[in-house]
Amino acid sequence: MDIINILPDSVANQIAAGEVVDRPAGAVKEMLENAMDAGATQIDLVVKDAGRTLIQVTDNGCGMSDSDARLCFERHATSKIQRADDLFAIHTMGFRGEALASIAAIAQVELRTRQTDSELGTQVLIEGSHIVDQHPTSCPSGTTIAVKNLFYNVPARRNFLKRDSIELAHIEEVFRRVTLIHYDIGFTFTSNGQLLYELHPGSLMQRIAGLFGPLYKERLYAVDEETEIVKIHGFVSRPEYSRKTRGEQYLFVNGRFIKHPALSSAVEKAYNDLLPERSYPSYFIGLQVDPSRIDVNIHPTKTEVKFVDDHSLFAILRSAVKKAIGQFALATELGFDTPPEFNIGPAPKGYTPPQPKISYKAGYNPFTASGSQVRMPLEPTVGRAPEAEQAATLELPDPQPQPEERQQGACLLLQDRYVATPLSSGLAVIDRYRALERIFYDRLQSTTQGGAAPQTLLFPVSCHLSAADAELLGELKGELKRYGFELEPGSGNTYVATAMPTELGNSDLQELLDQLLLDYKSSVMQRYSNRSESLCASLARQMASAAMRSPLTTEEAQRLIADLFACPMADTTPTGKRTIAIVKPEEILK
Ligand code: ADP
Ligand code: MG
Repeated sequence: MDIINILPDSVANQIAAGEVVDRPAGAVKEMLENAMDAGATQIDLVVKDAGRTLIQVTDNGCGMSDSDARLCFERHATSKIQRADDLFAIHTMGFRGEALASIAAIAQVELRTRQTDSELGTQVLIEGSHIVDQHPTSCPSGTTIAVKNLFYNVPARRNFLKRDSIELAHIEEVFRRVTLIHYDIGFTFTSNGQLLYELHPGSLMQRIAGLFGPLYKERLYAVDEETEIVKIHGFVSRPEYSRKTRGEQYLFVNGRFIKHPALSSAVEKAYNDLLPERSYPSYFIGLQVDPSRIDVNIHPTKTEVKFVDDHSLFAILRSAVKKAIGQFALATELGFDTPPEFNIGPAPKGYTPPQPKISYKAGYNPFTASGSQVRMPLEPTVGRAPEAEQAATLELPDPQPQPEERQQGACLLLQDRYVATPLSSGLAVIDRYRALERIFYDRLQSTTQGGAAPQTLLFPVSCHLSAADAELLGELKGELKRYGFELEPGSGNTYVATAMPTELGNSDLQELLDQLLLDYKSSVMQRYSNRSESLCASLARQMASAAMRSPLTTEEAQRLIADLFACPMADTTPTGKRTIAIVKPEEILK
């Protein structure tokens, strides 16, 4: 009995669609790329409900003939390559002829297109791979493709989509990746009737400013290099504007966004020691190489690329970035056109420099902290076997470890970070940072205490966000008010803070909100499903960082111990890291 069937095209296309279009952002990418391949100089993207109900791209490119307007929805229908050889000289974004076939298999698509030299255009309606209607129409030259109700016939995929703010964030990222490097093309992006971006044709720098905010103009150094194998044009962030996340790192090859760990590390290596610990440079770098020296075909969504000249590219890129940072850093430091501000000449004759003074407090005993003697209850504890023994062998005694009553407040401070205090089960070493995380978290969570105390800012501060982040912040701002923030949307995608929680000290608002939104997005996708938990966890971490900036005093250490042990789950941070390690008496005796 024969059991093999050939799948109907509509089914095959639907399966293929899973690879090309896994979410609205995938369709957006393909449609923008098609418009660029058609030679458009102006491209307008409109989405509704984060692409769920509508994704529409209008371009002023070459348009399609009546029959091409039908054919373009067939699988392997492409005007961009004809022979296998063409694969080695690709100058277009697309070439597989799968995108429109895939999209048409899982949506209701309306295409209107006219070639410049035709009087009338054509309109095609296609649903689930079936052409429903085609008729002549009058329309501007170029193409408009409207994709409606994506995944209408694939409920499993539709249900898999995330909340609108997250899907919109994906679309926005695609939009940045496409538009950044095509700065000679004008783009607009409208979401739910609101114009989010209006990008005019111009330079790369203007495009970066259009996408990330005008402040970037002062934060970047230009990278330019031309060799036989590669031409580099781009910008990298000044070291002092590095970020705590790898977010803004854009690398392009021949107009295509790529991910290439080796080349990315070439950029990061160029900074050497210029970056603070755990911070990353932002960069926007375009490479031009001979298309025959790359293979873009190894990955279906084509963000991975293989280069023939991997090693030389690495070296050239690193040295180009180095040069940019080195040269410009020097130029600003020395202020070439302004005279040095001070000039220390040789010391005048007969001058003896004063001896540096060392001051010390007579009678200071480092083991006596504000009068309370540090003594470890070694003997009593060991003597108190067997329960004490038992407690000492546990990682953490149950119930909650409590500082020995008679030594309440006794503590040793280490490196501004650790506080040691005696417990009946041994010496507790508390990680200040993690303990603060726990304390602030519990405080934020407790509604009775009213969370953090707001502090009205003398001068409101503003920050610039991506459109999706601005929308997300709009959703969260009510909740954040409870934690002491007063945030109002400003013009563009800016937000203005008029009050912040006191506990955040003078933290930088931009950095703070960037981190908060980043933590929120990633925690919503992973660990926490609960909005307030993930917001509190992120805020608590940032409050802890702010508090860590001041040196640790004995009084603070004592308060820290008391506050920590007052928390019901004192032994871990909100994300499950240990706050306390107990050094058992036996270990000390050893
Ligand atoms: P590919 O881009 O890989 O060729 P697609 O499925 O994305 O495959 O598109 C199929 C074909 O439809 C393209 O090769 C092109 O000829 C035509 N096409 C698609 N979009 C446009 C557009 N916006 N303007 C003109 N032609 C287009
Ligand atoms: Mg295409």
